[in-house]
Amino acid sequence: MNKANTRLRFAPALLLVSLCLPLVPSARDGAVPSARDGAVPSAQDNPFLSPYKTPFATPPFDRIQIGHYLPAVQEGIRRHQAEIDAIVANPKAPTFENTIVALDMSGQLLGEVNAVFYSLLSAATSQPMQDLANELAPLLSTHNDNIALNGRLFARVQAIYDRRAKLKLDAVQRYLLENTYRGFVRSGALLDEKQKDRLREINKEHSLLALKFSDNVLAETNSSFIVIDSKDDLAGLPAGVVAEAAETAKAMNMDGKWVFTAQKTSWIPFLQYSSKRSLREALYTRWFMRGDRDNDKDNKAVLQKLMVLREERYRLLGYKTPADFYLEPRMAKTPATVNEFLMRLWKPALEQAKAEAAGMQKLIDEEKGGFQLQSWDWWYYAEKLRKAKYDLDDSALRPYFKLENVQQGMFTLAEKLWGLKFVERKDIPVYDPEVRVAEVHDADGTLLGILYMDFFPRDNKQGGAWSGGFRGTFYKDGKRVIPFATLVGNFTKPTPGTPSLLSIDEALTSFHEFGHALNTLFTDSRYRSNFAPQDSVELPSQIMEHWVLEPEMLKLYARHYQTGEVIPAALVEKLRNSSLFNQGFETVEFLASCFLDMTWHQLESALNVNVTRFEKKIMDGLGLIPEILPRWSSTYFTHIHGGYEAGYYSYMWSEVLDCDAFEAFKETSLFDRKTAASFRRNILAKLGTEDAMTLYKRFRGREPKVEPLLKKRGLL
Ligand SMILES: [Zn+2]
Repeated sequence: MNKANTRLRFAPALLLVSLCLPLVPSARDGAVPSARDGAVPSAQDNPFLSPYKTPFATPPFDRIQIGHYLPAVQEGIRRHQAEIDAIVANPKAPTFENTIVALDMSGQLLGEVNAVFYSLLSAATSQPMQDLANELAPLLSTHNDNIALNGRLFARVQAIYDRRAKLKLDAVQRYLLENTYRGFVRSGALLDEKQKDRLREINKEHSLLALKFSDNVLAETNSSFIVIDSKDDLAGLPAGVVAEAAETAKAMNMDGKWVFTAQKTSWIPFLQYSSKRSLREALYTRWFMRGDRDNDKDNKAVLQKLMVLREERYRLLGYKTPADFYLEPRMAKTPATVNEFLMRLWKPALEQAKAEAAGMQKLIDEEKGGFQLQSWDWWYYAEKLRKAKYDLDDSALRPYFKLENVQQGMFTLAEKLWGLKFVERKDIPVYDPEVRVAEVHDADGTLLGILYMDFFPRDNKQGGAWSGGFRGTFYKDGKRVIPFATLVGNFTKPTPGTPSLLSIDEALTSFHEFGHALNTLFTDSRYRSNFAPQDSVELPSQIMEHWVLEPEMLKLYARHYQTGEVIPAALVEKLRNSSLFNQGFETVEFLASCFLDMTWHQLESALNVNVTRFEKKIMDGLGLIPEILPRWSSTYFTHIHGGYEAGYYSYMWSEVLDCDAFEAFKETSLFDRKTAASFRRNILAKLGTEDAMTLYKRFRGREPKVEPLLKKRGLL
């Protein structure tokens, strides 16, 4: 399962991962009212600037006000810069301790203020918070540049790197040194001054264009909708879907009508259930033509310019294509490996999808539809076949997945695998009264960390689910500093008389995010820097999803919220049988976007590319059937300008790892303590501190195999 909207924990810093800054959103154009409006608290009142007097020194949310952030960030930058200056000014010859470790330990205040600010910007936001984010972005990016392009600092790093073979470093230290060095080089440290100037220009132009690309997509999404004003045109739609469309219309001042938009939560249910074929076509066309309407929000030229700039940037840094640059620090390492990997999945997936299309055409013909299946028909006929074949009804399942039971299920699993204990705390300050906090204890009673859980949608919270934290872990004076992890979701809310009853997808999401949180809690790292490759970070989370629907596991938590009865075997059987349904389609539409991403980034020159013809040529070359479009097309594929450049494949790559890793449990037992201990020791505790493939091989005794993934998707 791919949760594209899931944010990664401790997202890599802008350029140097060792800065430990959360990903900073880019500044928007236009004047922003200053978040400094109003009284600025004095330094001694600023809770960020003195030791926290809270249990475990957790962030004092009861005292933090919006006016505290900016002065705390400014002070954080000042202290960080002073620390960097001290490293550079050290009269002693550069050593691993006085340079690499000192750099790793620098910027702690800034890191902690940012972790709180950016967590709350997503989970408890407001207009002043968003304005402040715009104000902070240029401050932080300039600060970042000042470090990344500091020639004297780099000279010290390089001096140590050049002597690395003689330094008797252990694997973790070597990894820290190599990645620190590589971070500088990849940011342009080896360039001459003229090249550095050109790089700064490219970066600036590129960031503005990337912003324009996403602004265009947003504008196109907001202006792409259909309005329905006759009840006849609602034929086939469930009451909940209709009610939501009425709400949307109301919010757009179209009381009494129904609006369906280009948001997935709106168009997918419409395409699934609407029996009005022409309306399905109208809405789906609005979705997939975004950014490609030759209007002032058209993204074709923007995209082309972005790619040309990227090509120049990475040629300047010594790479043949952008893909070569992006792949270098990842597990896959080269574009060729990724292409080969994708192609291996593509062939069986395409065969499967063709068979699925034939099944739908048969149904259309039986109903005397008299038309050829088209892309906007797929969801509708898939839904019909699913119901006919598996007789599965979402509302019959939900009563067995009460949120509290699912949560207990996660805790029970962690206890069975690793002996963890979760103890609720009511006295730790939270940023919203809905947030629940638990101490997490290891099997021997040691405190591992603190877990904040925030389950329900609110007006001030962004959509989706994610896991992050207010502090990562490291060692200070020989003692482990405990991490503060978060698990945030937007799960079905309780209503008067009914508790929160989750869908299967929500139950899977909750275990998924719990996996990220466990990764944060288990991390046992001497240093603050974490260099987990992007194509490995979904392993700890996606593996947890495998337990959710195992009969042995369901017995432990999936009880009816009224009767306490365990979910009936027949229902579980239906669920398991339906798990392979439509997988050809799901895999093909996902892979098509991966190929698109990879092909764009392997161009040596996008200068004369016609976006439409380019995309068509790729899809024709793959033999994609016209009934399926890529999940994301070029003109609205925001991932590949927002952190997933040549990286959309990462979800699937991680899925190979999690399927193969879960097999280790299947080969022993679902709750095998020895396998769990090895998974923790080699993966959960160490990911990001040593080479990911080496760690994986230590756990599994070999490299991952792709077969378990093929089996799971029914492609073998
Ligand atoms: Zn995830």
